Amino acid sequence: MNDFNRRRLLAGLLAAGGGALATPHVFAQDAAQRRNLLETMTFAVPSFQLGVASGDPSADGFVIWTRLAPEPLQPGGGMVMAPVEVRWEVAEDAAFRTIAASGTAVAHPELAHSVHVELAGLRPDRPYWYRFRCGGERSLAGRAQTLPQAGARKDRLRFAAAGCQHYEEGHYTAWRRIAEEPVDFVYHYGDYIYEGRDTGSATRLMNGRPFTPMRQHVGQEIYSLDDYRRRYALYKGDPDLQAAHAAAPWFVSFDDHEVDNNWAAGLDQDGSPPEVFAFRRAAAMQAWYEHMPVRRSSMPVGGSVQMFRRATFGDLMDMHVLDTRQYRSPLGNGGRNGPMNDDFLSPQRTMLGDRQEEWLFTGLAQGTARWQLIAQQVMLMQLAVQPAGGGEMTYSADQWSGYLHGRERLLNHIADRGLTNVMTVSGDAHRHFAGDVLRNGGEGPPVTAEFLATSITSGSDGVGLDDPYHRSVAGNECLKAIIDRRGYVLCDVGRDTFRGELKVLDQVMRPDGELSTFATLVAEHGRPGLQRG
Ligand code: FE
Ligand code: CA
Repeated sequence: MNDFNRRRLLAGLLAAGGGALATPHVFAQDAAQRRNLLETMTFAVPSFQLGVASGDPSADGFVIWTRLAPEPLQPGGGMVMAPVEVRWEVAEDAAFRTIAASGTAVAHPELAHSVHVELAGLRPDRPYWYRFRCGGERSLAGRAQTLPQAGARKDRLRFAAAGCQHYEEGHYTAWRRIAEEPVDFVYHYGDYIYEGRDTGSATRLMNGRPFTPMRQHVGQEIYSLDDYRRRYALYKGDPDLQAAHAAAPWFVSFDDHEVDNNWAAGLDQDGSPPEVFAFRRAAAMQAWYEHMPVRRSSMPVGGSVQMFRRATFGDLMDMHVLDTRQYRSPLGNGGRNGPMNDDFLSPQRTMLGDRQEEWLFTGLAQGTARWQLIAQQVMLMQLAVQPAGGGEMTYSADQWSGYLHGRERLLNHIADRGLTNVMTVSGDAHRHFAGDVLRNGGEGPPVTAEFLATSITSGSDGVGLDDPYHRSVAGNECLKAIIDRRGYVLCDVGRDTFRGELKVLDQVMRPDGELSTFATLVAEHGRPGLQRG
């Protein structure tokens, strides 16, 4: 049992009055203690407009989420500024004939009338259905699923890795397709929202091609808590996104655009004083918590979130979800991509911070599951990019290549301990990249492999294989597949193979783009690296 699980269990025991965990419990203030509770709540318009979600499943429970917002884009979501009771129920069947747990939670105005119910005491490795009720209205039902007990035999797991869903740049068709996949869970690598302003309806150039926003952000660049709330409300109004949330539990993380492009710990990209940026980061983190199906342990404290965490899927897979933003050193080379330099190589610089790095290394070394999955945000492959005009190879300042010493520490740890069952998933780069992860300079055999999932919409339709960027990365032998299309990676994990299907849509600027599999790559257990599947 890791620290978080132990803390969770202790908290659970306390909440259950020290007794057994047989009855599911709720981390929410008991309605009986409230003096300002709004007793009679009626809505002029439907209140559950932002859908429902479940997340952070364990062997005995998960979080269920919703937010009351009758007017999602209005201040306060159009709610009366008072705490409101919300009824919830969790059933063993889709028709809600057998109720496994039910109760009441308080939707607090301090938390944008979001509701997080953290269930425990449920049975392992089985689906559950959940829904909410308030003011005479009922939400749609969502489907959650508990994990198998740690160590229990598990032969197959399927999940989707996805993220980067710029609202203006395409339809969320990929989310609709994910909702239709038979997945056990979804891993979201971040860029759930983008912080930029409404860019107008005019046609402009994107990656050298004409682009006309499909729909628009509301308002200017976001800074305040209300700004972030409204941005989440805008995104979460999308029916395809809601369908994916309702279909399966998610493990969410965050990357840069949930706060500001390429932020790093206490610094934004604009050079704001850290004590000023801290206000923005705190607002962003609060809004992230309010809108994500995450546990109470990820509630922000002083503007910081405990996001890195672990999940165990029986004896088949351990997943280590990393946080590559909150603890990283400032970007090297002034945040600009460039030739490998002293900044990128400095042993003083860290991507994970000491505490998380130690937590990850211990978890990997002690993990007993068949596969160890590192689920994180930015590219782990060290990709050398040939500049268009020629000259020295350049590297990304924002990805692991900009934190080369931290990358080496991680890869050395995996290789030196003889761990031959580590896989990684990531995102952020708005293309599919699948390949082997080699140590610095590319010497030696692969240490692990990476499925970097393309964006849901960011980058719009994309150019497919007609991509000048391909020439600039052609020299990287570690790279086994690359394509500029929107989609997701469907991972199918078995005892002997870890398979990734690179799913692509032919277009996202019109609805119902056609889904296909661009490539399938497979890692064999005990043999790091990807083969064509
Ligand atoms: Fe992105
Ligand atoms: Ca990003």
